Amino acid sequence: MNGEATFPHSLWAAATQHRKAAASLQGDEDADVVIIGGGFTGLSAALSLARQGLKPALLEAKAVGWGASGRNNGQVIPTLSGVEPDMVVERYGEVGERFVQLIGSSASYLFDLVREEKIDAEAEQTGWIQPAHTPGRMKLSEQRVRAWSKFGFPAGLMDADAMKKTLGTGFWYGGMVNPTGGHVNPLALARGLADAAERHGARIFEDSPATAWAHDGKRWTVSTQAGSLRAPAMITATHAYTAELVPRLAPRLARSVVPVLGLQVATETLSERQCAEILPGRQAVSDTRGDLRFFRYDARNRLVTGGALVAELHAEERMKSIASSRFSEAFPQLKAVGMDYTWSGYIGVTVDRFPHVYNLGPGAWAWMGCNGRGVALSVAIGDRLASAALGTPANDLGLPVSDIAPLPFHGFSRRVAPAYLAWMRLKDRIEYQQ
Ligand SMILES: Cc1cc2nc3c(=O)[nH]c(=O)nc-3n(C[C@H](O)[C@H](O)[C@H](O)COP(=O)(O)OP(=O)(O)OC[C@H]3O[C@@H](n4cnc5c(N)ncnc54)[C@H](O)[C@@H]3O)c2cc1C
Repeated sequence: MNGEATFPHSLWAAATQHRKAAASLQGDEDADVVIIGGGFTGLSAALSLARQGLKPALLEAKAVGWGASGRNNGQVIPTLSGVEPDMVVERYGEVGERFVQLIGSSASYLFDLVREEKIDAEAEQTGWIQPAHTPGRMKLSEQRVRAWSKFGFPAGLMDADAMKKTLGTGFWYGGMVNPTGGHVNPLALARGLADAAERHGARIFEDSPATAWAHDGKRWTVSTQAGSLRAPAMITATHAYTAELVPRLAPRLARSVVPVLGLQVATETLSERQCAEILPGRQAVSDTRGDLRFFRYDARNRLVTGGALVAELHAEERMKSIASSRFSEAFPQLKAVGMDYTWSGYIGVTVDRFPHVYNLGPGAWAWMGCNGRGVALSVAIGDRLASAALGTPANDLGLPVSDIAPLPFHGFSRRVAPAYLAWMRLKDRIEYQQ
């Protein structure tokens, strides 16, 4: 059955124009670069290669955007989560500085690409706001503004009054704003990137899970049940879904991240009056808590939010009621707002919170560990992995390369990941009282 037919239920699945399903791979074919995974990373790499006149071929196990890329909150954020720019430079030196440039310019890269390729992704480059949830966290906002400004990015500070006017609530204490951020309909972006890549000459095969890869000294052969793709270079872009669909494909790579279930909730459409009172500038918002409060409007004026839960039992129903009480804490006028959609997806989380780029062999590349900040980053990194696959040295591309370090107790880590969330919540509460 084609992956499109089994596409997970979500606001984005309901609101996004269908894409004609691509054929599955039948037989053996050659390509310039073979890409595994049809999320933002793989699609961006395919588009970048095809725009250069090359012939990439992409295998997607289900349908384009089926993984995290079609299920996320769509916030386009040009920073990492929990890792500051100076920490990147301290760890990776000069390559780290280039990596910071890649991260800091990733939102602009995404919005420019959407404009250039005329992708209808309901893109709104209205800015990204990070409100401080305690007065103490304003110090962190100040540090972040200083750090990003030092690297030449337009980060600004808002005091409590300015934040109150911008958000329509005094629930937060001021914070940081980055005007290059914003939000998209993520599934529309994934489908639009796929259409653009095909228009430029890339081949996309859906319903075609890669089952194995091998290198014969010259070329990679990536096999599916019904055929294979051969190419001198390969990009693996399966991220947190690496072991979800074909567990034996790349167990070491899969175990380098913990897939953490992220839940999403969308409200009913808000009235014009509510939209004028709440976040009238339509920015993307995610605050400084460890257990984030985040939200944005979609194109039909629904607020889209979410979170993670310590236990997965009845998770979607519980998330709806948590979202409802969090909204009414900040915006009393949303006390009775209806919640129309809930859905979930896996986020690739690393122990050190850094994203990791891996060289899997001659001309073969992957990255893992978005830690919940991968919309802008995966589109920008996809383009760089394409250049790495063509032979540009990773250092020149600002890609710090790591050795794959599979977590020794991966199954256990998956089980304790929710406890980490509980710890973050406790920390948030303690800080709130300071
Ligand atoms: C609920 C949620 C909310 C999020 N919110 C945000 C946000 O607001 N802002 C932000 O910056 N980031 C957010 N993220 C993170 C962001 O969505 C991801 O970082 C990004 O989508 C990763 O893209 P990707 O292409 O690397 O991986 P994915 O989109 O996960 O793509 C991997 C693809 O590989 C395919 N695949 C797996 N195995 C195989 C195989 N054997 N053969 C072929 N194909 C295979 C899968 O089907 C999938 O389509 C969120 C993530 C989730 C889950």
